[in-house]
Amino acid sequence: MKRVHVTADPIHAGWLLSVLEGAGIDCILRNGYLGGAIGELPLNECWPEIWVIDDADEVQARRLIAEAETPRSPREDWVCSGCGETVEGEFAACWQCGRAHDEAPAGG
Ligand SMILES: [Zn+2]
Repeated sequence: MKRVHVTADPIHAGWLLSVLEGAGIDCILRNGYLGGAIGELPLNECWPEIWVIDDADEVQARRLIAEAETPRSPREDWVCSGCGETVEGEFAACWQCGRAHDEAPAGG
């Protein structure tokens, strides 16, 4: 058993757990549902912890968590100068009218 992640948010912890399970890693959530006991323990001992059953899965689990917590689209959305459509940052050209991101507005 290896602890691979701690988070203050039980919902986030449950989501990460499902990510690992989806990758075929046996893992459990600890401390997630202490309920009324929380006020009597040091705060960080109440936080949900994700543990992998098999120590050999630790590296992959940490990598999956890191990937899951990295925003999928690091580039910011942009507004097309041709049609005004908001386009996701990963696209270099407008999906609506085909205008490239850095193309100057027409008729300026
Ligand atoms: Zn456009």
